[in-house]
Amino acid sequence: MYRKTEFVKKYFYGDKVIDLNEYVISLGTSCNLGCEYCYLKFVKTPVLPVVYKNIDKLQVELEQTLSSEEKIFYFNCGETTDSLLTEQHLGNIVNIINILSSLVKKYNKEVYIELRTKTLNVYKLVLPNFDERIKIVYCISLTPEEIRKKFELNTADIFGRIKSLKYASNNNLLIGLRFEPIIIYPVFGISYNNIKNSIKYLLQQYEKIISFCYENMYTKNLHSISISCIRFTKKQFKKLIKQKSKLCFPEMVLCPDKKYRYSRPIRVEIYEGIINTLKKFFSDKIVEKIFLSTEFDYIWKDCKIQPKILAI
Ligand code: SF4
Repeated sequence: MYRKTEFVKKYFYGDKVIDLNEYVISLGTSCNLGCEYCYLKFVKTPVLPVVYKNIDKLQVELEQTLSSEEKIFYFNCGETTDSLLTEQHLGNIVNIINILSSLVKKYNKEVYIELRTKTLNVYKLVLPNFDERIKIVYCISLTPEEIRKKFELNTADIFGRIKSLKYASNNNLLIGLRFEPIIIYPVFGISYNNIKNSIKYLLQQYEKIISFCYENMYTKNLHSISISCIRFTKKQFKKLIKQKSKLCFPEMVLCPDKKYRYSRPIRVEIYEGIINTLKKFFSDKIVEKIFLSTEFDYIWKDCKIQPKILAI
């Protein structure tokens, strides 16, 4: 299929959400990994995943982007599809690396390429030689296995994803840990104590994941850690409520960007719990690598994290 609209777009996070200065490359659209919360199900997209063939158009757009004033670029290849979903996706990743390899030389720029996945297809990725000004960030989405089984039906299990980190590091990729989306599940009830206990249980599960990550990765390769609770558009929220989805937590509020999220104290409690666990396993300095993606400045402040951009 040929892409008619833009391949490369500055990511718009939403009104008042902290901007991480990231571009999205739509190498394909749609995904069949079956996540119940996936926003792609709620916007107009092809039923089956497609990967675009008109790479000449992508090349023109990347050249326009790199010829601008900016010195460092962060390209996310996993927003409109899973970056490593099929052989065709892997082929387009190689195309993107080849194009960017020649452009970074021509314009003397630095580039990060984020490959975000819930598959184990990194083992099939054969990378071309690329310029040292290009850094590839292999990002795995992390959630407790119980939640993956419930809401991410066709994805690779979490411990398999974590085990792939060493392989990626050994192949000169940087590592990104993506604690997104954080979902409170199971919910033990709607009383204050029930909700507190649900959050406590969730944080215990995240501690296990972080401990396993720590054992299965090289800290020196760690590029970034993002943390973000689930959020829904109004349309998504309405539909999920109607379907009696377990994704819809009793206490969700409409935020300034018109998305539903858990209330501020709940989000802050979860983020602080995960940040403290990360500090316990790594060190206090880990906060330099932490992003509260798609969050507002007041949440960053509550969690004592400095806003920053992804091209670090
Ligand atoms: S892996 Fe990502 S793109 Fe694919 S269904 Fe899940 S959320 Fe959507």
